[in-house]
Amino acid sequence: MVSRFIRAVRLGLVVLWASPWTLLGILVGLIGGATGGRMQRVGRVLEFHGGAISWLLSRVPIAGGASAMTLGHSVLGRTVADLDRTRAHELVHVAQYERWGLFFIPAYLGCSAWLWLRGKDPYWDNPFEREAYAREEDGCN
Ligand SMILES: [Zn+2]
Repeated sequence: MVSRFIRAVRLGLVVLWASPWTLLGILVGLIGGATGGRMQRVGRVLEFHGGAISWLLSRVPIAGGASAMTLGHSVLGRTVADLDRTRAHELVHVAQYERWGLFFIPAYLGCSAWLWLRGKDPYWDNPFEREAYAREEDGCN
C-alpha cells in the first residue's frame, strides 16, 4: 500500500519535472491534429502522428529526417507504424527526460555541439542516443 503510494508520488513528480517539454510536444501535437494528425495514449506517453508532424519530422537535420521525436511524455511520429517501430527507443528518451527534466534539451544539444566541435557525429555519438540505441536492443526501458 505504502509502496504504491510512493510509486504514484514518484510518477507525479517525474511527470511534473518533464512537463515543460511535454507541453511543447502537446502543442506541436495539437497543430498536427488541426492538420489531419491523430493522437493515442500508450502507457504514460501521449503519441501524436500525421498532419504537420510528418512534414516537420521529415525536415529534422539528420539523415533523411526523423521517424519520431520525444518531448517529455509526448512522442511525435510521422506515422503509426513509425511510432510502433521506434517505441522502445523513444521510451528510453522518456526515461531520460524523467531524469533530466527541464535540463534535457540543453544537455542533449550541448553534447551535440561539443561532439560537432570535436569532429564527431552530433547524433550518432551523442551519449543520450547511444544509451537509447543500447537499451532498446536490450528491451529494458
Ligand atoms: Zn533517439
